Amino acid sequence: MEEFQIYISGEWKSSDHYISVFNPYTGEEIARVAESSRKDFDLAVKSCELGFKKNRYLPAFQRAEILHKVSELLSQKEEEFAQVITNESGKAIKYSRGEVRRAVENLQFSAEAAKHVKGKVLVPDAAKGGIKHKLFYERFPLGIIAAITPFNFPLNLVVHKIAPAIAAGNSVLLKPSSLTPITSIKLIELFLEAGLPPHAVNLVIGRGDIVGDWITGNEKINMITFTGSPSVGKWIKNNSGMKKVSLELGANSPLIIDEIRDWDKLISRCVTGVLANGGQVCISTQRIYINTTYYDEFKKRLTAAFKKVNVGNPTEEKVEYSSLISEKEAVRIEAWLKEAEKNGANIITGGKRFKSIIEPTLVEDIKPDMKIYSSEIFGPVAVLIPYDNFSDVLDRVNNSQFGLNAGVYTSEINKAFLAYEKLESGAVIINDIPTWRVDHMPYGGVKNSGSGREGPEFAIEEMSEIKLMVFADLDT
Ligand code: NAP
Repeated sequence: MEEFQIYISGEWKSSDHYISVFNPYTGEEIARVAESSRKDFDLAVKSCELGFKKNRYLPAFQRAEILHKVSELLSQKEEEFAQVITNESGKAIKYSRGEVRRAVENLQFSAEAAKHVKGKVLVPDAAKGGIKHKLFYERFPLGIIAAITPFNFPLNLVVHKIAPAIAAGNSVLLKPSSLTPITSIKLIELFLEAGLPPHAVNLVIGRGDIVGDWITGNEKINMITFTGSPSVGKWIKNNSGMKKVSLELGANSPLIIDEIRDWDKLISRCVTGVLANGGQVCISTQRIYINTTYYDEFKKRLTAAFKKVNVGNPTEEKVEYSSLISEKEAVRIEAWLKEAEKNGANIITGGKRFKSIIEPTLVEDIKPDMKIYSSEIFGPVAVLIPYDNFSDVLDRVNNSQFGLNAGVYTSEINKAFLAYEKLESGAVIINDIPTWRVDHMPYGGVKNSGSGREGPEFAIEEMSEIKLMVFADLDT
């Protein structure tokens, strides 16, 4: 079995303790990864201090070159990385390949953004006190950025943090999910091969509740960028003192279908929206509101499509999705479905569990307090809800603790703008599912879906701060 070391203070290190990594589909132990001790963590912070001093003074073009090089190396290793992602996360291989291609592009976005970190010149004498002054500001890196990442996109969500942090001139202490650490280890190898200063990144592996305590309690760390569940996000925010914190959390993303012009395309997009990665996507399509005119036909067609989906071994090309990350997660979802059924919900299709696999599932006759509606299901399940009035449905959608992406199918411009105006979410996607994302857009949520925005240009803003320069008493 393969054993992996951690990258601390410029070197790869073993440990007295190892974490086992399992293939979620087969249940097999596939690797052992060195677990970081408290001493390793303290060394990592010291190393990041050195790395920051080095990286902040690298010219922007050099930081851009490093990121371009990582992108190129990753592109050459697309298949190797895809296999690692599938092996440790259970993601269907075609989606793992897609994730690698997105990460390749995402690195390029950060490389380009490194050259466009924005400043501004102000009009000084807009204020009486500013006469004969000059004012401008630039953005400066924050220092040490701790990046904590989840299991569901073990490559691209790590790139969303490391790449903009480096582009802005920071150093990074990375703590990936201990369920999927191998992808991060391989990615760090590429950053080093591409010429990143050795101390500019450190990789700490360990259980979140332990390492999380070390990170939040360390005053040398300037910012925590976290992607994961709302409960952990809240804990981090409440325990981080004066650190800057950005939170990319979960959702129960809504799709409103007010008009259908292309049935086949819509059904295919809904299958992807609900089932991609077994629904383990933060913007997975969970609540589908359908204009009553279309409800019965939509239910019939989506049910038929769900029954055809290939579920199984994630290494097979034809498979759409395989197991969830663990049997524990599948048991949780099964329990939520049973509870809903007991309270009057109708399971239209699916609902059964086989070890860590949940069948593609559609549910109707929902009550607002059912967990499968009000909480984030994070599995291959969607609820169908008929509606009559467009304006009212926007209020129903907003009656949620979350607000990440929302999708609306309509060809009426007024409805599109009404939705944009009223929906409490980070983005409104007209004529596609809420699961739509490209990596350079400003991405993030409101309410319990988090705060702050990712997408390299926007993450760089979060990971830097304004410093103002004032020239006073000029003879102009
Ligand atoms: P999670 O359980 O919250 O874990 C995320 C990361 O936080 C892991 O590295 C975990 O470490 C660590 N962690 C756990 N407890 C911690 C603590 N007390 N302090 C600091 N770190 C701690 O989430 P997950 O199950 O991996 O991912 C699923 C969640 O992520 C869903 O809610 C999903 O919606 C959300 N998500 C959001 C986005 C977005 O961009 N908005 C994207 C993807 C996923 P260990 O696992 O190693 O213990």
